[in-house]
Amino acid sequence: MTIPSRINVEPLRTILQMECQKNYANTTVLGGLDKYLRKWARETRDGINSPELLARFTELQLTDSDYARWDADKRKAWIKDVLDWLAQAEALAKKMSAKKSPARSKVVSRPSAGHVAPSPKRPKDLDSPVTTAKGIAASLASKLDKLGVHTIRDLLYFFPRRHLDYSQRKSIAELEVDEEQTILATIWEARIARLGPQQGTEVIVGDETGNMRAVWFNQPFLAKNFRTNAQLVLSGRVSEFKGNKVFESPEWELVEDKELIHTGRLVPVYPLTRGLYPRQVRNLVKKVIDDWAWLVTDFLPQEIKNSCRLLDLPQAIIQAHYPDSYLVKAEARRRLAFDELFLLQLGVLGKKREWQESQPGNAFIVNRESLDKFLCSLPFALTQAQQRVLHEILADLQEIRPMSRLLQGEVGSGKTVVATAALLVAADNGYQGAFMAPTEILAEQHFRNVCQLLSKVSKGGDEQDNVRCYHGLFSHPVTSALLTGSLSEKEKVAIHQQIQEGKVDIIIGTHALIQKAVEFSKLGLVVIDEQHRFGVLQRLALRQKGFNPHILVMTATPIPRTLSLTLYGDLDLSVIDELPPGRQEIKTRWLRPEQRGRAYDFLRRQILDGQQAFIICPLIEESENIEAKAAVAEYERLSKEIFPDLRLGLLHGRMATSEKEKAMQRFRDGNIDILVSTPVVEVGIDVPNATVMLVEAADRFGLSQLHQFRGRVGRGEKQSYCLLLAEKPSPEGSERLKAIEEIQNGFVLAEKDLELRGPGEFFGTRQSGLPDLRMAKISDTSLLELARNEAIALFQRDFGLTVPEHHLLAQELARVWQTGSEVS
Ligand code: ADP
Ligand code: MG
Repeated sequence: MTIPSRINVEPLRTILQMECQKNYANTTVLGGLDKYLRKWARETRDGINSPELLARFTELQLTDSDYARWDADKRKAWIKDVLDWLAQAEALAKKMSAKKSPARSKVVSRPSAGHVAPSPKRPKDLDSPVTTAKGIAASLASKLDKLGVHTIRDLLYFFPRRHLDYSQRKSIAELEVDEEQTILATIWEARIARLGPQQGTEVIVGDETGNMRAVWFNQPFLAKNFRTNAQLVLSGRVSEFKGNKVFESPEWELVEDKELIHTGRLVPVYPLTRGLYPRQVRNLVKKVIDDWAWLVTDFLPQEIKNSCRLLDLPQAIIQAHYPDSYLVKAEARRRLAFDELFLLQLGVLGKKREWQESQPGNAFIVNRESLDKFLCSLPFALTQAQQRVLHEILADLQEIRPMSRLLQGEVGSGKTVVATAALLVAADNGYQGAFMAPTEILAEQHFRNVCQLLSKVSKGGDEQDNVRCYHGLFSHPVTSALLTGSLSEKEKVAIHQQIQEGKVDIIIGTHALIQKAVEFSKLGLVVIDEQHRFGVLQRLALRQKGFNPHILVMTATPIPRTLSLTLYGDLDLSVIDELPPGRQEIKTRWLRPEQRGRAYDFLRRQILDGQQAFIICPLIEESENIEAKAAVAEYERLSKEIFPDLRLGLLHGRMATSEKEKAMQRFRDGNIDILVSTPVVEVGIDVPNATVMLVEAADRFGLSQLHQFRGRVGRGEKQSYCLLLAEKPSPEGSERLKAIEEIQNGFVLAEKDLELRGPGEFFGTRQSGLPDLRMAKISDTSLLELARNEAIALFQRDFGLTVPEHHLLAQELARVWQTGSEVS
């Protein structure tokens, strides 16, 4: 006797149970339960080996159920019967398998097991290789591999790029030229025909309204599929040939007793690779969905699905591939996008809360007196926005729970001074503060700024170049140190030692400061400036370094909310939304190549007027060496041919740091009129007397980079200008130039940038180590807010996801984030 293991109990039970929950409304399966039931029953019938079970199966009329027509009572009774039957089948299977092989507990789980022997491994595992699915051989699997599809789950989540709308069914007489349409017709004749230079296939089809031709060029082998009198569905664009309508290379499908896949519906268009064909992929995906989608366990708690009006997961997957309509397709996308965003938020918020609660940080005491002393020493008053943000930061610093804050402020809005105040609070409390910049030039500038600010309120500062000590602000001296790669080995060792011994309070350097083996004695605050390269996971790594410092991340690039909640979901947000008084709009002009001479004249006039200028050389991605050479050449050309009477300086990434520093210093002191630079000058450089920024090959830069360049001028009171030169901009390049010319507001520009570039490139979400977003779009702001709020609410109810209804979710969360956590 064979074991009745071919009865695939689980999916049907799940569906019927859902149907019960939904009050027998026949809404569990799109298109109605009957369709699914009949399919299930047909596949199952042959596998029933117990006469008793089979008899009852027949009685229940599963193969041609009529659920749709019954009233609720009848439906309820019938479902109960079917569930009983399933339980019987399961019990019997258990009994049999216990006899046969005591070790195996799960028998009735192989999906659609009509002809396949049950797999000895965990057969229901969606993470098993694609070859587990019927009809996928190793050769096909290797092609799918190239598309990033390795497992059954990958294939279920291998969504089409788009759909062709072949759902518009017409009669032949109704067909319109140039539209995408579908007909159902009878084949009158099919033959191999000469079509142009090659052989192809020609068929004549007809319906009650007329006859027409369909042709496929170069595909004579198709002809054998088309039997006379068979019913054929054709979908595609209709053209006109000698006054007659004709389908040219339409999608086709014979009408058999099965669902249409390639025609007559919304037909998915999948990404392909060499050796994979659209029909093949559609067939294959359809098969896998039919067999496996129902086995996907829906990890979302019913409560959330109800309140957010979300489709069930199996349905969403099916409908994302083979939607019944655009409406349902949108619903499916919404559910899948919600999943991505929700899991992302749960992950980010969970990690945040974990570290905040697992390792308490250090609550600082804010000494108002010395802080005010510092603020009063500034040559300006803080703007309202600066005050508000400083207040928010100070409130955080006084908590045991470590601060985790993003400070977002337009270029030139004065973030540095706020950060310095926070660093001083740390120092006052006997803690060390690290201030990290993305480049050495910026680290040096921060060091100088901080020292300058300190020298206004305290004495000292002129000892060693890289370590300066100030007295008089607090009861103890404040020591600030610059740590860069260009220090000599000896100097480095000395500074490391001092940091380790706690002799330095404020340490300024590049990101290497935290990533390399610098040992702090008592790290209390980390300020990370201008960092789109420092993601959630790096922050996590930082926190796991044995300290749990307060963290302040600063960025000048305004981040659309969708992205900031994604990339910085673990951070609270503060915004400086106000520029210091007196700042003016920077006049931005995109110049044609023939206006170059006028641009140079303009620069000269500004300089004669006492101002200074930047000239940015083209971005050369291949190598910093070539870029440096090009900058040297340009510098020489400008010095000799264009501005022989002016003082020019040069700045590029291949110069020694001391050289760079010297050039910057001379520029800052007004001893250089024009600073010719590679794009290294991009971030943070602050020279208020510079009023002109000329960017060469401006079309090659991204919008946010151009905005950063522009932010280098307009830092003083004088009207400033940004001139953009481009030889032959591409359409996208022109688009960017137009945008930067018209838009001053960094926030609006960032949105525009996203629109032009897409989110992946924008901040390198790809490298951020976060789970992939495939369905979610950057414009899904309200869905993201919904997901975030649901995540917050869920954690309030059950942070550990410990109650049974949340187990599946906890599993899914672990699965999705497992790739991400490797970094730390
Ligand atoms: P960013 O936010 O781009 O880092 P910075 O901190 O470099 O801006 O500040 C830009 C310039 O504005 C600096 O020269 C700084 O001294 C000055 N600044 C900062 N705050 C104010 C203020 N409230 N009033 C006037 N000038 C200010
Ligand atoms: Mg700055």
